[in-house]
Amino acid sequence: MKSSEYIELEDRFGAKNYKPLDVVLERGEGVWVWDVDGKKYMDCLSAYSAVNQGHCHPKIKKAMLEQVEKLTLTSRAFRNDQLGPFYEELCALTGSHKVLPMNSGAEAVETAIKAVRKWGYLVKGVPEDRAEIIVCADNFHGRTITIVGFSTDPTSRKGFGPFTPGFKVIPFGDFKALENAITPDTVGFLVEPIQGEAGVIIPPDGYFKKVREICTANNVSLILDEIQTGLGRTGKLLAEEHEEIEADLTLIGKALSGGFYPVSAVLSNSEVLGVLKPGEHGSTFGGNPLACAVARAALKVLTEENLIDNARDVGAKFLAGLKEIKNPKIKEIRGRGLLLAVEFKSDAGGARSYCEKLKEQGLLCKETHNNIIRFAPPLVITPEQVDWALERINPTLST
Ligand SMILES: *Cc1c(COP(=O)(O)O)cnc(C)c1O
Repeated sequence: MKSSEYIELEDRFGAKNYKPLDVVLERGEGVWVWDVDGKKYMDCLSAYSAVNQGHCHPKIKKAMLEQVEKLTLTSRAFRNDQLGPFYEELCALTGSHKVLPMNSGAEAVETAIKAVRKWGYLVKGVPEDRAEIIVCADNFHGRTITIVGFSTDPTSRKGFGPFTPGFKVIPFGDFKALENAITPDTVGFLVEPIQGEAGVIIPPDGYFKKVREICTANNVSLILDEIQTGLGRTGKLLAEEHEEIEADLTLIGKALSGGFYPVSAVLSNSEVLGVLKPGEHGSTFGGNPLACAVARAALKVLTEENLIDNARDVGAKFLAGLKEIKNPKIKEIRGRGLLLAVEFKSDAGGARSYCEKLKEQGLLCKETHNNIIRFAPPLVITPEQVDWALERINPTLST
């Protein structure tokens, strides 16, 4: 079949909750993907950082195939021989004490909200049904009703109410606002280290050090959503390391499986996850042996292949290269590690047409919020491949 026929099928039978570029992919390897016509592209989105290890990484593939032959799903009604080692390896790598495995990122966020509310009632002593969680404007934490209920993006929210109460929104990057928003009923502060979907918004230096102090002083659990920033993307294993802080709860997903399978987890460094008792929370697929085997291999690849240091070094080169673009329509070029963005001025006519032009030249990226392009290639990208990308991006974005 031709590209146009696949597109026609999607349009005819699928809900139109996405507006993808018209490229139909059938194969991937490392930073490269191929469409059904055999055209090769560099993937500069990495499925929103889910394929940090590169497409179809052979070691993750091997682990997945081996596990598929043995056992895929037990449910948590029984134990399996992958879960314990997965917990141990993940805790050792991240310095966490407890893990709760789920599937999608949104489920990890929901899990953290449940756990921190329960902790608020049982440990902090907040009166029943009064727990409050503070979140930031322009957040992205997923798509469930509770989560979109505290989004500030009208497209995500409008028409989906009524929403879950108990959330308060403050500006991102403003620690005074956090201090002012906290009440005796505040149980958690849920925040992204860098706001990815908002367009790679990096908070002022020192913000998270202050946030950590304020949370500690007020007995508020700091919940960092590292689903996009975690697992090497910003040049550290977790983005919290840039400010040498530790969250009470850390949420990871996406690259936890290297793109092979939905695997997410809540990592806990305090007593919060300890409050959950049997029957109070769960997931049929969460912690299944296939997910655990894939995640163990995905984590191993990150460290064994030095992908985190590579993200730091190659990311710095990529950012320096992007900064050479001269175009009065550009407002700002920013990034950390391999999470990079070019923001156009709001009257510049949007970023979509640049993404279309880059696609023609064999480079796939996606606009976010109309006027921002995010560049987030797999962390296996080499300096030579960055040069290849810049040779296409810079002339295209200069006009
Ligand atoms: C992608 C993402 C999520 C949601 O993950 P899903 O797997 O799509 O549910 C949550 N938080 C952040 C920061 C994300 O980037």
